[in-house]
Amino acid sequence: MMHTNTVRANLSNLKLLGRNKIPDISELGFLGPMESVQDAGSLSASQYYSFIAQFMQHIHSGIPPYDPPDVRRPAHFEIREEYFQGKYVKRAVIFLLSNGCEWALKSAYGCSMCGHIAKQTRSKEPISADDFIVQFKTAFSTIDFRDIPILNIFNNGSFLNENELPSEARRTILRLISWKKDIKRLLIESRPEFITESIIREIKSLLPNTELEIAIGLETSDDFRRIISINKGFSLSQFAQAADIIKKNKIRLRSYILLKPPFYSEKEGIDDAVESINTAFSLGVDVISLEAMTVQKYTLIEYLFNKNLYKMPWLWSINEVIKKTSHLGRVYVGLFKFYPSPDSVPNNCSLCNDVTMNAIVEYNRTLRTEVLDGLHCQCKDDWENNLNSEIDFYQNLYDFMLTANISHDVGRSRYQVERELRHGLVKTA
Ligand code: SF4
Ligand SMILES: [Zn+2]
Repeated sequence: MMHTNTVRANLSNLKLLGRNKIPDISELGFLGPMESVQDAGSLSASQYYSFIAQFMQHIHSGIPPYDPPDVRRPAHFEIREEYFQGKYVKRAVIFLLSNGCEWALKSAYGCSMCGHIAKQTRSKEPISADDFIVQFKTAFSTIDFRDIPILNIFNNGSFLNENELPSEARRTILRLISWKKDIKRLLIESRPEFITESIIREIKSLLPNTELEIAIGLETSDDFRRIISINKGFSLSQFAQAADIIKKNKIRLRSYILLKPPFYSEKEGIDDAVESINTAFSLGVDVISLEAMTVQKYTLIEYLFNKNLYKMPWLWSINEVIKKTSHLGRVYVGLFKFYPSPDSVPNNCSLCNDVTMNAIVEYNRTLRTEVLDGLHCQCKDDWENNLNSEIDFYQNLYDFMLTANISHDVGRSRYQVERELRHGLVKTA
């Protein structure tokens, strides 16, 4: 596991890559008003980090204007399932239309796999607190909660960031939920920098009888890769601080772990997910959602996928991670139900996709890994061979730089870059 200082050391090695041809990230104003992202600020020396951020900016510049006709209607809401108090129950999921995640809009152009900014967000005029409240009420009053004990609210970013969801709207929404006695558990999402003692105390006072679960997208426990591959912009130590506040206040903590982020080989993806789940549980996480990579529009992963620089994870890899981690605690598999819907999702071969997915769904229902044991298909051999032959993170990273013309700016051979990257990591890990 790498810590912040290690990351800084790694990134200072990466200064070599830029040779001053690319402006410093701080000059580009990427970090904007996100002063609270201390570790992202400290990364300004990294020319490499700015490559990824600039590339994300380039990708986002292609997003066609989207101005939804009615900002007083939620983006979407639906009913899903969840394991709760020993049985499967319904849960309502409300997607609020928003102005978008601040990290994606103002800082480093967002996480490399996240497609929220291209959809269900409006960029021209701010959505007011009142608009958010009406959106919420529209969905809330339509859903019959009598047999739905769980509510998830997603706002395409951080529920606890007041620049994304005004505090007045947050408080009103929480009050409305607290009055609905059928709702036993509320799940919200937030980046860790917005999780403070004061905001948590306020939520607890507004929701005295409702169990709260906060989900944070840790994605990986490896700081270097979370920054370079995922462009996440926060550190494991920031996650640990937030986890500490959440646990001290007896709130449930869910963590998303991403299977096979950009540049990872299949085997690196499996190993990293296993290690990250171990780390997350050791930091007090109650529930893991293992999120295998999907392709959404206007993302780095879509670019890599279209350029044949990325292959979707196999369903066999999901099973492998589950088998190696399910004894540690509650590990669920995200079933690729994102909104907007992804263009590509993890798969095996056409002969066994359905049966494998059914087994994964059954695992989610029972948390028994035995349901994954009886699966066989000829493609499993291909998957196993793949594990031993795929090119690795640094080669994939360099191939991306080459394809995106970044290597030209870097002015170094792939072997120099690869050696520098490897040397930096080996020396400081
Ligand atoms: S994954 Fe979360 S933090 Fe990252 S850009 Fe998307 S909404 Fe923002
Ligand atoms: Zn198969």
